[in-house]
Amino acid sequence: MAVSSRRPPRSRRAARVVIVLLALIWTQFPFGSGGASAEGGHELALCCAWGKSLDDANLTYNVSSPDPASTQVIRNAVEEWDGDLPALTLTEVPVGSPADITIRFTPADGRTEGQAVTSFTRRGLISKVEITIQGALAPANSGGLGQIAKHEFGHALGLGHTNYEGNLMSPAVSPDPQPVPPCVIQGVIEANRGKMTDPQGKRPAPPRVSQVAC
Ligand SMILES: [Zn+2]
Repeated sequence: MAVSSRRPPRSRRAARVVIVLLALIWTQFPFGSGGASAEGGHELALCCAWGKSLDDANLTYNVSSPDPASTQVIRNAVEEWDGDLPALTLTEVPVGSPADITIRFTPADGRTEGQAVTSFTRRGLISKVEITIQGALAPANSGGLGQIAKHEFGHALGLGHTNYEGNLMSPAVSPDPQPVPPCVIQGVIEANRGKMTDPQGKRPAPPRVSQVAC
């Protein structure tokens, strides 16, 4: 959690913190270098929990992209997350209408990259996430696009990074398609525990733990 709650508010309601997380696709994936930190073991950091947007167990998203095939790859990535999280529904809405999570794809030469910019309420809960992805088009780049989209959406759901290489949520992402790992799904549930394990439950609250084994 960023420690900027003492920053002077820009306005009464805009006293919010923003976190930016950047990811890259490795062109040569460093297999075999997946050693954990000496003391800790394999862990996935939890960033934060959604605020009241999650009260209805639904988050909305839209995908802004000039290329239909690439749009579909990104949409498939979100739909995979949707299927992985029975306690939550992810609903696509048209570009231009309000969405909890916006995803913008910009075709570009070179390495596939993604960024998630997360905005928070004053209580440190997620209020909005803006994902940007750039890279080559599908179908040639379907693997890279899909994996980056799943990775960034993981941030949008409250995750940080793993402390080792080779996981979907490692800072550098493999372009080889792989399902969202079970420990990563568990991380999202833990991050949003208040709402995702007890839907009737209390007010949303930040994660109780800062990481899960992964
Ligand atoms: Zn990342």
